[in-house]
Amino acid sequence: MLRSAKLRLVVGLAALCALASWPLVMSSPYDLRLFTLAGVFAILAIGYQFIFGYVGELSLSQGAFFGFSAYVTGILAAKAGLDFAETFLASIVACVLLAVLISIPVLRLASHYFALATLGVGQVLLLLAIDWQSLTGGAIGLSGVPLPKLFGVQIGRGWPLLLFVWSFVLFAAIVAHQTKRGLYGLACHVVRQNAVAARALAIDPDAIRFAMFLLSAAIAGVAGALHAHTIRIVSPEGLDFKVMIACLTMAVIGGRTHVWGAVAGALLVVHLPEWLRGFEQSYVIITSSVLILILILAPEGLAGFVDRILPVATPERTSTVAASSRPSNLPAGEGVLMPSETPILAIRHLTKTFGGVHALNNVSFSLMRGSITAVIGPNGSGKTTLVNCMTGIYRADAGEIVLGGNEITSMSSDEIAARGVGRTFQNLRLVEDMSVLDNVAVARFRSEEASLGKAMLTGRRDSRLERARSHALHVLRQFGLDKIADARCGSLPHGIKRLVEIARAICLDPVVLLLDEPAAGLNESEQAELAGHLEGLAARGLTLLVIEHNMEFLKSLATHMVCLDYGELIASGRPSAIYQDERVVEAYIGRRHAAELGA
Ligand code: ADP
Ligand code: MG
Repeated sequence: MLRSAKLRLVVGLAALCALASWPLVMSSPYDLRLFTLAGVFAILAIGYQFIFGYVGELSLSQGAFFGFSAYVTGILAAKAGLDFAETFLASIVACVLLAVLISIPVLRLASHYFALATLGVGQVLLLLAIDWQSLTGGAIGLSGVPLPKLFGVQIGRGWPLLLFVWSFVLFAAIVAHQTKRGLYGLACHVVRQNAVAARALAIDPDAIRFAMFLLSAAIAGVAGALHAHTIRIVSPEGLDFKVMIACLTMAVIGGRTHVWGAVAGALLVVHLPEWLRGFEQSYVIITSSVLILILILAPEGLAGFVDRILPVATPERTSTVAASSRPSNLPAGEGVLMPSETPILAIRHLTKTFGGVHALNNVSFSLMRGSITAVIGPNGSGKTTLVNCMTGIYRADAGEIVLGGNEITSMSSDEIAARGVGRTFQNLRLVEDMSVLDNVAVARFRSEEASLGKAMLTGRRDSRLERARSHALHVLRQFGLDKIADARCGSLPHGIKRLVEIARAICLDPVVLLLDEPAAGLNESEQAELAGHLEGLAARGLTLLVIEHNMEFLKSLATHMVCLDYGELIASGRPSAIYQDERVVEAYIGRRHAAELGA
């Protein structure tokens, strides 16, 4: 691994030197201009990665922000005669405001609607640019955009403009790096891979998507303004959908989440037509074929291809991360607490229907502090729906859920998680391409108060991420998982993944933990180990709700039991009483099994 780290460093430095010396060997002003334009598009593509790459939303408005910014620059500079500093700032602010306006109705849409809605923005702006002749110059556009001026000094054509533009590439790259490297970047990763899991960890995916969309727009604003100053005219071409297609191609060809991928993609997409121009009429076909070929050979982009042949060396992080001594708010080590008689969470008359199906019908029961309540019932009886209503994934049609005296019925999932309701999922929701440690550490996002602003100001070390990892390591140690902290989650066996998901929920410091069929797919020794962990958690004051079919597993574990059938609560009480309950025996357990359990 270390060798590959060195190799990556050498390859990276070589690529950087090649990039820096490329313009040095250029002879014509045309070449310099092309390289400058590649810089402009590299900024656009780096900006696009925030929304398209880091949070995985297919936005089709990046081209519109770019063209819009160019127009703002053109109008303010060529028509109103404002300074570079003023037009530059105004163009960025205008793009951010436009993004805010778009995002209010659009950001909550499912991805294909999001793509369509963002596509519409560019079309509207294009029509406006053509029709509003007095302001925009109509189909001809505006000419006479001056070269940028900084502190009274004009940035001349050729080398000065090239360096000026590429300094913004560096700036955009630094913003991207700061966003990705810490706890905030981990949260983006979870939002991209599994937004439902993010919400269960008190991370608000909408807020993160919103921030990334605005950042994308702001950086598109930088690119658009620089484009106007580089080509000195603004025309409807800048708002054409071709710009968006070019941007998408750069991000896909280069790689969605690597900054250098965006730069490589931009250099390639801008230069390829020039290199292939010798083929005269057929150059368009050849350019497209080359790009398609790259995608076939490297479907995850150039950056992904390099990752495949030179895997990222993961330093043994756990050796540098010290487990915190007692990070949990659970009263660890304070001796065994008996379940109390005060309900910590009360469910009252909860009803949820899907079409004509009563998934839950007037369900009421309470969870006592430190108790382990088992929820049993046949498949389709409403168990998962109950947990989904309790965690805000579904909104109940009627009834209420009260946590520690506060009603949480209509709160969002992330808000409920932040108030101390942790959960696991019937179908695991771990981020497969992230390490065990980081899967668990990201649960500290809310308590570490991570934000984009703080990520920007982080110095060499992200202390939030370090604290989160050290807390995560402490929790992993409790589950005996610290030795595999550096392993990729996707590579783990099913039983271990179930434990990791529980550890992740514990890292949130919940007061109530809801487990949806935690023993499913575990062998007997794994079940016994899991039961031991759950008893330990309850003994330390955590309140547990466990959905399970495995009655042997529940027999000695559950202190309380409720049974659902067709969405109705048909029995509630001590397990021994439930096993004797006529309705439960009839609907679920069966007579023979009931006799065995009673024995
Ligand atoms: P269980 O977890 O007990 O097996 P569920 O809570 O998953 O049961 O489902 C209860 C009932 O609600 C089933 O009839 C199921 O088909 C229905 N149901 C659950 N979720 C949805 C949904 N999102 N849309 C439509 N029907 C649903
Ligand atoms: Mg279920």
